[in-house]
Order: sequence, then C-alpha cells, then structure tokens
Amino acid sequence: MADARHPPEVDRVAASQKAIAARRARASLKRDLMTRVATPQDVVRRAMDDAASAAGTMRITDFLTALPAIGEGKRDRILAELEISPVKRLGGLGVRQQRALAQWLDGRFPEPRPRAGRSRLLVLAGPTAVGKGTVAACVRQNHPEILLSVSATTRPPRPGEVDGEHYFFVDDAAFDRMVADSELLEHATVHNKYRYGTPRVPIERALAEGRTVLLEIDLQGARQVRAADASATLVFLLPPSWDELVHRLVGRGTEDEEERARRLRTAKVELAAQGEFDYRVVNDDVSRAAAEVAALAR
Ligand code: 5GP
Repeated sequence: MADARHPPEVDRVAASQKAIAARRARASLKRDLMTRVATPQDVVRRAMDDAASAAGTMRITDFLTALPAIGEGKRDRILAELEISPVKRLGGLGVRQQRALAQWLDGRFPEPRPRAGRSRLLVLAGPTAVGKGTVAACVRQNHPEILLSVSATTRPPRPGEVDGEHYFFVDDAAFDRMVADSELLEHATVHNKYRYGTPRVPIERALAEGRTVLLEIDLQGARQVRAADASATLVFLLPPSWDELVHRLVGRGTEDEEERARRLRTAKVELAAQGEFDYRVVNDDVSRAAAEVAALAR
C-alpha cells in the first residue's frame, strides 16, 4: 500500500506534471510583466485573489526583477526597504507587506486613471495582432449608432477586403494629395511599410450629428489624435497574455518570419506606451471586449 512518503508512480508523475505546468504558468506571467501585458498591480491582485495561482506562487524576487529597470541590486534594496524576506512568495505576504508593496508600486508604476469627462471620439489602439480589427468590427455590428471610421491606406487589399468598406485603397500620389490638402485627421507609416490615415470629414460630420466615432488606428495615430483633440478617449486593447499575442501573430500566417519578428518588436514598443491611454481593455473574448469598448462611448 502506498503511504504519503511513497506515493505510487502515477501520483508522482501527476505531481511532477503539475509542477511543470505551474512553472510554465509563472514563466508566462513573468513575460507578461516584462512586456507590460500585465501591470505589476494586476499580478499582485491576482496573487491576493488566489495564493495558489501562478501569481500567488511567484517568488517576490522573480516578481521584482521582471519589472522594468529593476536589477538584482535594486531588488534587494527594495525588499529591505519594504521589510519583505526574499524567500516570500507573492501570495504569502502579510497585510503590512501587501500594503507597503502596493504603495511602492503605485508610486513607481502608476496605473492609468480614467479622466473625468468622456469625448465621443474614441480611439482604439494596441499592439499588433491583438485583434483591434475584430473588436472594432464587432462594435460596428452590434452598435450601428457608432461610426467606425474607414481609413485610407497605400497597402494593397488582402483577399476579401472591399474598397470603401475595410479601407480606401489609394496609391502614394493620392495619399500625398490627401495629406497636402489636410484631409486627414492623422496619418502614419505603419510597420515601416505602408501609409495609413483617418479621413477628417466623415468624423467631423458624425460628431456634429452627436454620434460616437471609433477609430481603430496605430499608436502614432492615437498620439496625433490626442494632440489634435485633447478630450479624445484613448482605449488600449491588451492581449490576455504575451504568449497569446505571439500565438495569434504566428497563427494568422499572413506575415513571413522577418515581418513577424519586426511586428513583435513593434508590439513591445507599443505595449510600453499604454500609460498614455485612458482605459485598458483585455481582448480575452471578442464580444466581451467589444461591449466594454462600446460602453466607454456612452
Ligand atoms: P492592417 O494593414 O493589418 O490592416 O493594419 C496595420 C495597422 O495599421 C494596424 O495596427 C491598424 O490599427 C493601423 N491603422 C489602420 N488604419 C489606420 C489609420 O488610419 N491611421 C493609423 N495611424 N493607423 C492605422
């Protein structure tokens, strides 16, 4: 008969598989922290909710070194200052330690705060392959009262894309003319390749009619819109995890190896800019995320 000290082989295999899965989940969470898909506060909240979760079982030392610009020396000074032992796991902190850590994190990595007063000009941005297009299309389908802006682009159409519906497909000369005539509210070269821009007139018309307008554009465009209209509401769409973003990018299969690597580099830079946004929405489920975006418009 097996006792606790001599578990049967099947139990040992199951336990080691469980340990491997837990380690993988923690490694994935560390990648989320490093790429800022999850804020440090998100991870602490998850650890408090469930001490047995990947967040809860993460060592405080691993947690701190996964944060931007924290090396081992700095980590040890922070732990001493917060009076937290380096052997602690996030889910095992005492109440005073939790409070000290939360305060330190809020000072060092402030979370975006929704601003008072919302504009009806809504900008949806986020890293490549996060599913901005799908979420925006879902908003359009379920909320016909919201105008989804149709951009102009110099990129050739992909199979199934319709001119005037997905984009206005134009050549370089036509794009130059639109820029020269100030027809675009914002425009940018995306992924160092093609140019994209938001036609100004349909937006101004819709806003004048009291409608909400949704722009699905890249980070450079979002910044330009904010500069042009400080009251615009900026929404950052996040993947559920960094690993999932990589998976979606590879799974889409529309880009070659070099292009994928370039887009992942861009994604990291884009994720680092989320602090400039008013709201963060996680695209874990398209209809749920679309409903959350649409609710921000109201
Ligand atoms: P895609 O070529 O895959 O349709 O889009 C590539 C990127 O261009 C996406 O990140 C999309 O958000 C961005 N984009 C689409 N339209 C515009 C636009 O009008 N302005 C800017 N700045 N980016 C856009």
